[in-house]
Amino acid sequence: MAEAARIDGKAFADGLRGRVATHAAAFAQATGRAPGLAVVLVGDDAASQVYVGAKGKACAEAGLASFEHRLPADTSKAELLALVEQLNRDPQVDGILVQLPLPAGLDEQAVIAAIDPDKDVDGFHVINAGRLAVGQAGFVPCTPLGCLMLLQDRLGDLSGLDAVVIGRSNIVGKPMAQLLTDANATVTLAHSRTKNLPEVVRRADIVVAAVGRPEMVRGDWIKPGATVIDVGINRLPPTDDKPKGRLVGDVAYSEAVSVAGAITPVPGGVGPMTIAVLLRNTLVAAHIHAGLDVPEGL
Ligand code: NAD
Repeated sequence: MAEAARIDGKAFADGLRGRVATHAAAFAQATGRAPGLAVVLVGDDAASQVYVGAKGKACAEAGLASFEHRLPADTSKAELLALVEQLNRDPQVDGILVQLPLPAGLDEQAVIAAIDPDKDVDGFHVINAGRLAVGQAGFVPCTPLGCLMLLQDRLGDLSGLDAVVIGRSNIVGKPMAQLLTDANATVTLAHSRTKNLPEVVRRADIVVAAVGRPEMVRGDWIKPGATVIDVGINRLPPTDDKPKGRLVGDVAYSEAVSVAGAITPVPGGVGPMTIAVLLRNTLVAAHIHAGLDVPEGL
């Protein structure tokens, strides 16, 4: 059988960022201000510093204003909530993102609950989770929305396809299952207690793996021709030729690539979509706040 097509998330994300940039310029022309994203980072977690830096750079490239707030690790809950309140009221700010994880002692749910749901461009607020659950317009978490975009770009109409999502987190697995259900796929949400997982996965036309276990999904779990979206980002222990450790997904790519019809690589698959969708969500929020029609084709 021919090798699976490689789903190029980087190229798709670049295209989306380009479309966001075009619409952001038109927005600025119409309103006299750029769409604005506020990013709040508490503490000095190394990975979070990298993500926040990347988000700021991506905003600048797309013509979005980014407002970074870096707070010390010993920031109190009251101080953090006061900042969120200030950002909720700030008319320059269309989207608010509080970088997770927060330092121990700060209640993540309380902080997310304080964000104005209409500025919650991460889609983590319970109001937005509820909107997604009942099919109302709202903000959808960036990673699963990016996965849906890649799937629809590859497969077109998903109606009637069997989809298996592995992992039931609030930020990836659950919203992914809801998005696929809304797109008329027949969805199984598998997790750590699922029995006979390889058999369950073998029935799927679409597999979305969001577990956080390196190369857990083996090639012989995949139905021939299936489309495989690998959300996992796992760093393997360092070796002589990879002193920082190789990055792998939740799917054993070298096995799955000879069975699947199409598959996302790690890195270069789902990863680049997350920031691109964050920019997209911020642009959408800006249009809603300004009373303008949300651009189509995003
Ligand atoms: P999480 O730890 O919150 O959830 C993992 C899920 O996997 C849980 O629901 C659990 O039930 C399930 N699980 C654990 N062991 C299992 C097993 N043996 N069999 C079946 N299911 C099992 O993780 P998350 O936040 O959803 O992230 C999942 C992965 O995706 C991680 O590797 C993370 O780094 C990655 N991720 C990538 C992006 C991106 O931008 N590409 C964004 C978010 C998360």
